[in-house]
Amino acid sequence: MATRKRILSRDPICIVCLRTQPLARRRLSTEVDHIVPLSKGGSGDDGNLQGICEEHHKAKTAADGDRPGSSRRAARRVAHQALVLAELILLQLLMTFPFVLTEFP
Ligand SMILES: [Zn+2]
Repeated sequence: MATRKRILSRDPICIVCLRTQPLARRRLSTEVDHIVPLSKGGSGDDGNLQGICEEHHKAKTAADGDRPGSSRRAARRVAHQALVLAELILLQLLMTFPFVLTEFP
């Protein structure tokens, strides 16, 4: 059985809701959460996985300092932002000192 299906069958109700919400406010698990995030050395074993609702998954991921998805994707995003920033700074420099374009052949 696929991991996601297995975990959601094992934990049909969000684990965080079970601990923190009154009965009427508990939500169904719709996502699989790493108890110890992969970025912090957590494993993909069933013992490190739990069923969780979307809202609690978002809250937990934010608290862990991670974003959903891979850390490689996060690294690419940071690299892209740095590149955009460098382009803006270069553009600003050229607009402020346009002579640099003509001074050097
Ligand atoms: Zn929940």
